[in-house]
Amino acid sequence: MDVRLFKPSLGKEEIDSIQKVFDISWLGLGEKVLDFEKKWSKHINIGHSIALNSATAALHLSLALFKFENGKKVMMPSMTFASTATAALYNNLKPVFVDCCEKSLTMDIEDLKRKWTSDCVAIIPVHYGGEPCDMEAIMAFAKIKNMKVIEDCAHTQGGFYKGKPLGSWGDIGCFSFEEKKGMTTGDGGMACSNDKELLEPLKSMRWVGIDKDTWRRNKTKSENNERHWYYEISLLGYKYNMNNLAAAVGLAQLKKLNKFNKHKSKMIQLYLEGIKNIDGIEPLLPYSLINNDRSSYWLFGVRCKKRDELIKFLTSLGISTGVHFTPLNMQPFFSQYSGETPVASEVYKHMCTLPLHMELTVEEVDYVVSALRSFSLKHF
Ligand SMILES: *Cc1c(COP(=O)(O)O)cnc(C)c1O
Repeated sequence: MDVRLFKPSLGKEEIDSIQKVFDISWLGLGEKVLDFEKKWSKHINIGHSIALNSATAALHLSLALFKFENGKKVMMPSMTFASTATAALYNNLKPVFVDCCEKSLTMDIEDLKRKWTSDCVAIIPVHYGGEPCDMEAIMAFAKIKNMKVIEDCAHTQGGFYKGKPLGSWGDIGCFSFEEKKGMTTGDGGMACSNDKELLEPLKSMRWVGIDKDTWRRNKTKSENNERHWYYEISLLGYKYNMNNLAAAVGLAQLKKLNKFNKHKSKMIQLYLEGIKNIDGIEPLLPYSLINNDRSSYWLFGVRCKKRDELIKFLTSLGISTGVHFTPLNMQPFFSQYSGETPVASEVYKHMCTLPLHMELTVEEVDYVVSALRSFSLKHF
């Protein structure tokens, strides 16, 4: 057996969709990107979306929109991927690491309040693994302290919390279509908001600051406009756009997204059922939305006091594992920024990510569960 940790699910639909882009011979930013933005907004129920080449770019530009003064601080969990923090640094802002709740691994609101200082200008909550943050409490606190909120939705694609889509609670929600995430465009990301005007500058910021990208200029050319080549640059931009090829894959994946989410939920339920009576193995997360048909989880994992031995054992049986994540403040580069997060550092020692993806089979889950059982019988 060779059980993969993550695996994108790609088929004929994606190839056919790419073929259409070949047929029109327009691979860059173009109509497929705009179509994908519209369909994505509709699917996840958020008013407007701008497609980018990654969630990292989406987080970077979303923060940039607010033009915060250099040196101000952005509050974020330490239990996250590097991009959450690099987004602050790209904008000359400093990350402040907030601890996580012992169970949900999402931001601990009490610690958020404790770590707040008057130079904090924004919060980036992360819906860790697809487990939603307590957005009601975060939004209430952000309002009192006049902070902006950018949701890092890289681990969820279409998840709801208290009847409201994840990504629509804060000012902006940033999604990822990196190949290991819940649906993919190879690499890709989306910045979403119900505030159309807020997102508007992103159209030029993703295209080196040019107010009309080549696609839009090309359209005016066909209208017989002799000044079709004209554009203006009035702000600092980046080359962060999504292209037609990626969007074509995204359009095909989007049609399967509900199916993907449902399949992963079913596999998580099988795992949870399977490990219920295994000593020394606990589920990584509460999976509080698992019975909700709008859940969108990315990670399945367990907690085990003998984590390193477990990983070695599973590897010997062809089962891929991972650890998501080393708390950022334990990384050499990020240790210079403030915020002790003892809960994250403790939980981290025992966490182990297990295979979960759109093509994982019942047999594979059974195989992993029986491996966990044999490990437990030997060690606990
Ligand atoms: C994967 C990930 C990102 C970055 O996504 P990209 O699309 O690869 O840039 C950001 N935040 C979190 C929490 C992630 O896991």
